[in-house]
Amino acid sequence: MSSSDLIIAIDGPAGSGKSTVSRLTAERLGVPHLDTGAFYRTATLAVLEAGVDPEDAEAVVEVVHGTDMEIGDPTVILDDRDVTSTIRSDTVSDNVSAVSAHPEVRVLLVDAQRRWAGERGGACVAEGRDTGSVVFPDADLKIYLDASPEVRAARRSGELPGVTDVGAAIERRDRLDSSRTASPLVIADDAEVIDTTDLTIDEVVDRILGLLG
Ligand code: C5P
Repeated sequence: MSSSDLIIAIDGPAGSGKSTVSRLTAERLGVPHLDTGAFYRTATLAVLEAGVDPEDAEAVVEVVHGTDMEIGDPTVILDDRDVTSTIRSDTVSDNVSAVSAHPEVRVLLVDAQRRWAGERGGACVAEGRDTGSVVFPDADLKIYLDASPEVRAARRSGELPGVTDVGAAIERRDRLDSSRTASPLVIADDAEVIDTTDLTIDEVVDRILGLLG
């Protein structure tokens, strides 16, 4: 398989190791890393800054339509401002599931994600919730990463297991992301499931590269 048009789709819940694993896998293969979550986070920041209720589908879609976002890796620009760290704030994290649940928002952003990959030559390692099921249904390799709730919360907080507020926040986000009608977080039929609970990042990356044959 040549890496010139290779697409690897890596999905999974928050704290499953997706971001680090997909970034390193892309680096090892020398292809771009597409962080689809950054699109939804940037759209959410635009919605909040516009003072729009994240549940108000019509108003949200209007804001997202008029938003100029440039998703780099890692630099993210929203309407000429560097919002790389702002899109990772708790306020954005707490509202992103509501914004990303609107079907029309997903249509706009999935389109933008496919264009992003096309403009960079087509090959990429994509990460998110629906990259194997919706964005790139014909991906060469689909991976679903998971880990125990305790380990996911610990990874997200950067602390030891038992930090319940981070656990509760990601549990809520996972519940919303998995139960929404439009492109919920699912394990694609042809995805390889990897439980990262007891694996190092390098072990996960090696396993993914091993699956490429
Ligand atoms: O991956 P990350 O945690 O940055 O994603 C933030 C949020 O963006 C997710 O909780 C989910 O609501 C939304 N998202 C999505 N579909 C994707 C990627 C992210 O709905 N492909």
